[in-house]
Amino acid sequence: RLAVTNGALAFDNVTFSYATGAPVLRNISFDLPGGRTLALVGATGSGKSTLVRLLVRFYDPTAGRVLIDGADVTAVTLHSLRSAIAVVPQDCVLFNESIRYNIRYGRPYASDGEVEAASRVAHIHEAITRRFPEGYETVVGERGLRLSGGEKQRVAFARAVLRRPKILVLDEGTSALDSLTERMIQESVAGLRQQCTTILVAHRLSTVADADLILVFDGGSVAEAGSHAEL
Ligand code: ATP
Ligand code: MG
Repeated sequence: RLAVTNGALAFDNVTFSYATGAPVLRNISFDLPGGRTLALVGATGSGKSTLVRLLVRFYDPTAGRVLIDGADVTAVTLHSLRSAIAVVPQDCVLFNESIRYNIRYGRPYASDGEVEAASRVAHIHEAITRRFPEGYETVVGERGLRLSGGEKQRVAFARAVLRRPKILVLDEGTSALDSLTERMIQESVAGLRQQCTTILVAHRLSTVADADLILVFDGGSVAEAGSHAEL
């Protein structure tokens, strides 16, 4: 079992290729103390989401090690690993059920108060109560069609927050968020500091100015690493 104490994260010379292809991650090494924010930026296809997939063990490294609080992720149960980490994926899947159901998915016995608190952290509570007469009972439609892209991502964000993970990953994806959503997510991440380790996948350096460590990916390698001031 993984006993996550503070959510420190390290990649030790990790190289990875899908199936038989060329490496999409090459010799990635970094160290992030628990409770800090890591940002991954870089062009589409540079390997950002792949790094996240290695963290949650959808795949294992071809070489090198992924460590959480000093423990190799291959040496712990998948269940304990995945209960410690919540990922807001770039294409989040919503069920054609109520907003409340969607936020609670993953912690189905959470109280209404807990659902609302998580929604406030994710800056989606106002939109739910103002925009929809049925509020949290609003059924989102096939693939969440009744919600905008930013709203969907924030519902998925609230779902992740509700799970109280030790490590929270937000994969912004290629569809750049509108600047209001981007700013709200920045504020939320700032508010989550200390409670959990955060990984932000972003397209612009400006989005992640506050991160403790920024890795700039270029074709599967880290081209630059440091704080915003250092880069
Ligand atoms: P984006 O900003 O568009 O989300 P990314 O930096 O997250 O891009 P990845 O999704 O990590 O990029 O992809 C890195 C490389 O791995 C790309 O060349 C991509 O085509 C390839 N790739 C991704 N998923 C797979 C897969 N399941 N099988 C084979 N190759 C893949
Ligand atoms: Mg990606």
